[in-house]
Amino acid sequence: MGIPKFLNIWGTHQFWVGFFQSLGVGRIVFSSDTSEEQYREYGKGRITMDSCFPVKALAGHMGELLHKDINLLFVPMIYSLPSFLKGHVVDTLSCTRVMMSVENIKAGFLREKNEFEERGIAFVSPFVPFAEPELLPKYLWESLKEHIPGLTLEETAKAVKEGFRALEDFERKMREKSLEIIRWCVKNNRPAILVLARPYHMDPGIGHDIDGEFQQYGFPVLWYNYLPLDDWLLEWLFGEEIRAGIIRSYFDISDVWTSSYSSNTNEIIWGAKFSARFPWITGVIRLSSYECGMDQPTFTPVQKIVESSGTLFFKFGELDETKPAGSVKIRVETIVYYLEKYSQDIIKKKLSRLGAVPSQLLV
Ligand code: SF4
Repeated sequence: MGIPKFLNIWGTHQFWVGFFQSLGVGRIVFSSDTSEEQYREYGKGRITMDSCFPVKALAGHMGELLHKDINLLFVPMIYSLPSFLKGHVVDTLSCTRVMMSVENIKAGFLREKNEFEERGIAFVSPFVPFAEPELLPKYLWESLKEHIPGLTLEETAKAVKEGFRALEDFERKMREKSLEIIRWCVKNNRPAILVLARPYHMDPGIGHDIDGEFQQYGFPVLWYNYLPLDDWLLEWLFGEEIRAGIIRSYFDISDVWTSSYSSNTNEIIWGAKFSARFPWITGVIRLSSYECGMDQPTFTPVQKIVESSGTLFFKFGELDETKPAGSVKIRVETIVYYLEKYSQDIIKKKLSRLGAVPSQLLV
């Protein structure tokens, strides 16, 4: 079983591992991180016109897997995403271009000849609405039953549960790790950086490893989608605003964002709110890909939310396939200068707006 490690797989991979392990599918092979070589060797000539590099890169991932020892290529069309934002956000839709990219790229492998058939590899691309988990067993069973002999709907339903359990376990561990990092920052009075991006910017070939550059300077880097969500912490940061009637819950973003329909966008906005309140996050790094239609409307609100709190904001927009290694290094050096110069003042200022630091942070 091959799964291309692309786009929304970055936020849902543990679901798929848990799901297929429960079904007893032998070996899961993920494609490598995105790279120029992967794209050139396996993807070029198979893409339709698309300015969005994260979408184009899928061709390289699928092409690479066609050269591996697999007999099933599984590329889900993810319509909606699971999200930690519960309650006062409207929906969890994924970018439509991301969802439809599977069909577009698939066409590139059928244009001259059926490359899947030629290599004896079945291609499966089910419609996946994570926001309606009750529909998942049916959709997944219908697309997989002819490729996994004897597969029943009940087994698929059980596997879906296992998938969610694996995803929740993974996210819990990641949030625990983030809390550990945050506690280290508090104990040592050291600043951290928060990245606001799409989960697929964690792929070094899409996000150009910009987050890694900061770690080399000794700055812990947190990602918004794995921030700790413990009640005592969110109460410290948001409790007052709930009591003042500004927001209705810790996860309410309606005070700053009225177009709540996309999962990643909502989470990015919430991450900006978290960073504006949490004292030891003194810098926010925004990553976005070239011509990202989903990100465009969020640029100004996110920057305003972050900067209005005194937190430093830096944007690396228009990331595409060209490797900007040299210019990234220079920008990172400049940003590090600002972080080192202003972080202690920012921490103090932000602390003065909050109540006493919760004891759970001081352990
Ligand atoms: S870069 Fe933006 S528009 Fe392009 S696929 Fe990603 S989310 Fe969608």
